[in-house]
Amino acid sequence: MRTKDPISSFNNCPICTTKLTLTKHNHRQRKTCPACGFVDWHNPAPAAGVLVVNDGKLLMVKRSDEPRRGDWCIPAGFIEWDESPQECAVRELKEETGLDIALGKLFNVYCGVDDPRTNALLILYFGEIIGGNPTPGDDAAELAFFSREEIPENIAFAAHIQAIKDLQQNYPGVLK
Ligand SMILES: [Zn+2]
Repeated sequence: MRTKDPISSFNNCPICTTKLTLTKHNHRQRKTCPACGFVDWHNPAPAAGVLVVNDGKLLMVKRSDEPRRGDWCIPAGFIEWDESPQECAVRELKEETGLDIALGKLFNVYCGVDDPRTNALLILYFGEIIGGNPTPGDDAAELAFFSREEIPENIAFAAHIQAIKDLQQNYPGVLK
């Protein structure tokens, strides 16, 4: 399932516009700039999200945007430049569901390798609702709480499918 490390789509240096060359740098072929030394490290993009279980049901959102528009996922999103993963998780939850949460402990960390935009590193926390009104927003068209029987078939990303499996396996009985 894990994709090969792709060579990124940059052809020219984003700093000085010189044509990049493939050079072995720290154990891998990477696009580097012969003029200014820029290295296209091409790392996965960090993302954070929250597992909210309320009355034995897991909070999920339905995607309103591509990729995987119409599929369900755990509320999550990419970390902004100056944000901590915890801040990102709380913000994304608020944007996508209207809910305020108290962040709990770290649940797990996953590699996302099936998002056409980028590979991702997904950091998932537990969270508990402390306020707000459930209203879908940002890239969420709907939100819903699912019991284990009700978890939808169409889940957007493999990492989210794995996280839900892990939740049920490692916290048996957490979902009704
Ligand atoms: Zn350059």
